[in-house]
Amino acid sequence: MDRPNGREFMRILNQLAMIGSAQFGLSSRLDCHMYAVRSPEGVVLVDAGSGLGEREVAAHLDADFPGVAVAGLILTHSHMDHSGGAEALRKRFGCKLFVSKETRPILESADEERSGLRRAREMGGYPEDLHMKPCAIDWAYQSGEAFEAGGRRWRTVHVRGHSNDSYCLMTEIEGRNACFSGDVVFYGGVLGVINSWDSDLHGYVEDLPQLANAKIDMLLPGHGLFTLKNGQRHVDAAIRSLENGFLPQQIGQGAAIF
Ligand SMILES: [Zn+2]
Repeated sequence: MDRPNGREFMRILNQLAMIGSAQFGLSSRLDCHMYAVRSPEGVVLVDAGSGLGEREVAAHLDADFPGVAVAGLILTHSHMDHSGGAEALRKRFGCKLFVSKETRPILESADEERSGLRRAREMGGYPEDLHMKPCAIDWAYQSGEAFEAGGRRWRTVHVRGHSNDSYCLMTEIEGRNACFSGDVVFYGGVLGVINSWDSDLHGYVEDLPQLANAKIDMLLPGHGLFTLKNGQRHVDAAIRSLENGFLPQQIGQGAAIF
């Protein structure tokens, strides 16, 4: 991280930056990692954060890719720390919003029950006055579907287990296979089972093996460390951990994620 002219930025590659994150101290304490990918038709953002760090996020984006328009925003799933800022960012940048067909109805109707926000708020994870706002969706992607955002090709892999609407988003950046894994799988093969109505190990057992042999170079999750090389190693460790009889390591056990 550097501070050119007093402004922070966290440029990872020529075409990749992190523009928001609670853990790296870039934006609100309730923001997941938010990534920006330079693409042929502008910048594509992956995940929107909680919405509480919008001003900082916009400043980082301006420092990383000055004068470049935002062409699209893609969400990995509907949890508040990933989706809360979506509508405001869509309006601010005039960009297209891409979510999965499972996420779409949750965001369109600001369904705090199905997104898990009501329960998470009750458990003290979010402020009392933080609510979802109905969101206009431009494109709903489906499992296994490839689509274009910002002139860049994205491939989707639906992996239940963290939530029913969780996806990994795959694209190639500077010759490397990137996997934006949201809260599906983290550095070290850590999984994302949480205390929520639609989170369980079953989804992982059924869906995670789709990522075997995916030749992932960069694993770019929504929390914790990321890696630019050998990302597949971490995914394979997670797949292996599901094959033995004990509970694999989960996010939130140990290091704080916010
Ligand atoms: Zn989540």
